[in-house]
Amino acid sequence: MLQGSGVIVHGHFSLPSGLPASNGLRQAGQHTDTWFYGGKLIAWPPHLLSLCAELAKGFTGMGISLVVGPTATGVAVAAFTALELYKLTTVGRVQAAFADKQPDASFKFRPEFAESINGAEILIAEDTVHSGNTIRQLVKAIMALGGNVAGVAVIWNRGHVAARDFTMADLPGFTEPEFLSLVDLDLPAWPAEGCELCSQGIPLVAV
Ligand SMILES: [Zn+2]
Repeated sequence: MLQGSGVIVHGHFSLPSGLPASNGLRQAGQHTDTWFYGGKLIAWPPHLLSLCAELAKGFTGMGISLVVGPTATGVAVAAFTALELYKLTTVGRVQAAFADKQPDASFKFRPEFAESINGAEILIAEDTVHSGNTIRQLVKAIMALGGNVAGVAVIWNRGHVAARDFTMADLPGFTEPEFLSLVDLDLPAWPAEGCELCSQGIPLVAV
């Protein structure tokens, strides 16, 4: 489904800055022939909805009342997952909320969401996870407002991230959440020096 939709694309790409250079993960400036444009999921609402339905199935019976996503694509993933979870749950209502990324990479909720976060059992939803840092920052923002993160749902896990990677030394009260990813697959990347696609003169696209 994702092939041919513009979500997964093939060509010649240079990886963005900001990716961690540790743990053997893909590194900034490396080149690759395949990329996942998570934002393009928005272009295909029926497909995105069916993916979110699969995510929702993993979190029934947990009393989740709020699904939170980070801007931008995470907002749609959170809203669709909340809709699907609502169809499956007996909680009575499942709402969605989103948080905005700040210049220091932390996340902040708009004031209108504070009330629904306080005391809620929360599922974080996102299109991709690479190092887990976005999720950790969301956990911090949610706990600061009195919410409990019970689960994390992502469509694409491209860093072999595990539930324990979401815990933090500076949030001692936070234990491993339930974690579900639909696809657990890293895509190959290599140093720019010696790149075969470069030597063939194939135009490079920054992602
Ligand atoms: Zn190259």
